[in-house]
Amino acid sequence: MLEIKNLHVKLEEEDKQILKGVNLSIEPGTVHAIMGPNGSGKSTLSYVLSGKDGYEVTEGSATLEGEELLDMEAEERAAAGLFLAFQYPVEIPGVGNMTFLRTAVNAQRKARGQDEMSAADFLKVIRAKAKDLKIDADMLKRPVNVGFSGGEKKRNEILQMAMLEPKMCILDETDSGLDVDAMKLVADGVNALRDAGRSFLVITHYQRLLDHIKPDVVHIMADGRIIKTGGPELALEVENEGYADLLAENA
Ligand code: ADP
Ligand code: MG
Ligand code: MG
Repeated sequence: MLEIKNLHVKLEEEDKQILKGVNLSIEPGTVHAIMGPNGSGKSTLSYVLSGKDGYEVTEGSATLEGEELLDMEAEERAAAGLFLAFQYPVEIPGVGNMTFLRTAVNAQRKARGQDEMSAADFLKVIRAKAKDLKIDADMLKRPVNVGFSGGEKKRNEILQMAMLEPKMCILDETDSGLDVDAMKLVADGVNALRDAGRSFLVITHYQRLLDHIKPDVVHIMADGRIIKTGGPELALEVENEGYADLLAENA
């Protein structure tokens, strides 16, 4: 599904190398987690995959089902099936959540060469999905993320994901101060959307999130590289023992 090879990234503004050869291979239908100390480059990896400005890829590739993501515009990446949920969701005053989602869904359909979804069809689909995810219909009418609680923003993120039906979902939950309830929401949402044709990359500081999501593969990132890959037990190991030993082995 997602294949990252020898990815090197520096900041555009200054001569600072942040990713120093990331390799990552995510099979269809699997959930991978990335953990690692603060500043190791986890968020940078998700930003670069999303096409955010300010980063320069100096080497390597990242393909989604064999297509080079790094050559695509952000909208093309979404059309190709990539979805990124961020730590701090944007608020869009004046734009209703439903309108926003319909625009996003139709932009994606257009980029895929599909017809626009009619307002009536869209309403049917979003109501069904909101119900499945236990999302209050009232939230669909409110301006995007404005005045949403942390939990509501998380629900909304999951709803966006459900509506766009991506193949590869990347969630960066680092530093977002998720409380237990919000963590459970994210986990339930991810679990509800798990599917043989859909993969997840969950970036997190919290081993507890992985108690609920149960990743197939866990990676540890440090200083711009993946330094260790293992099963779910690796997350527990890090939780109990910290990163010091791992970092020393790799120094
Ligand atoms: P993580 O998510 O693992 O905590 P980040 O990807 O946020 O790590 O950051 C990796 C490193 O890159 C840090 O040292 C951070 O300060 C630096 N960095 C990332 N983006 C920028 C930026 N736009 N300007 C300056 N430094 C940055
Ligand atoms: Mg950080
Ligand atoms: Mg981060």
